[in-house]
Amino acid sequence: MREKNDKPIGILGGTFNPIHHGHLRLAIELYERLDLAEVRLVPAKQPPHREQPSVSSEFRLELVKIAIMGVNGLSVDDRELRREGPSYMVDTLSSLRQEFPQRSLALILGMDAFLDLYQWHEWERLITLAHILVVNRPNSQLSDQNKTMQNFLKQHRISDKKDLQSEKFGKIWIEKMPMLTISSTQIRNIIAAGKNPTYLLPATVLEKINIYKLYH
Ligand code: ATP
Ligand code: MG
Repeated sequence: MREKNDKPIGILGGTFNPIHHGHLRLAIELYERLDLAEVRLVPAKQPPHREQPSVSSEFRLELVKIAIMGVNGLSVDDRELRREGPSYMVDTLSSLRQEFPQRSLALILGMDAFLDLYQWHEWERLITLAHILVVNRPNSQLSDQNKTMQNFLKQHRISDKKDLQSEKFGKIWIEKMPMLTISSTQIRNIIAAGKNPTYLLPATVLEKINIYKLYH
């Protein structure tokens, strides 16, 4: 019992417009490699840094639910949908911290998201609430020009992943893993062009998209 409670809770936020196998493999691989208690997928109601998604948050949430049905280790967390206004990650982590004061929390970010982190609302508070797990993504590399994130990384990076369990927040771990070069943008473009995105996302999700003619 106690052992399970030392495991970090992974948090994967995103627009999930729509969810795809890149998101899902990322979540499952981190769950297994870093021995996480679970990975919570947290769809954004209103992403602060981009225009409002074409598909409603309720529908995007529904697609996430369908995608993870029956999968061990993955869960969906709808707290951003229950909040008004922009979905700031700092509010989401604060709320999780209140719910789990004693647990290790770990925010999962693709490298693309990590590079822009300094633009997020109250971004320096994020690391006081949770660890950050960064995963490589094709075409995204931390350059020497990005001094802010270089310094941030230098300050918090750990070389032993056990620290993710012994500490509850404050550490950055970079996980090197092969990525699927899939993006939601690519899937939306394929559907809009009348082509077939099958095998890029779960069949059950695509079925739902087709029934409701989303992204067409
Ligand atoms: P869009 O093309 O609309 O930006 P996306 O595919 O990038 O969509 P998001 O919802 O923006 O998906 O991403 C949520 C999180 O998942 C981010 O941290 C992002 O880095 C990560 N992610 C998205 N696609 C992949 C992938 N193929 N492999 C690994 N991580 C991914
Ligand atoms: Mg993206």
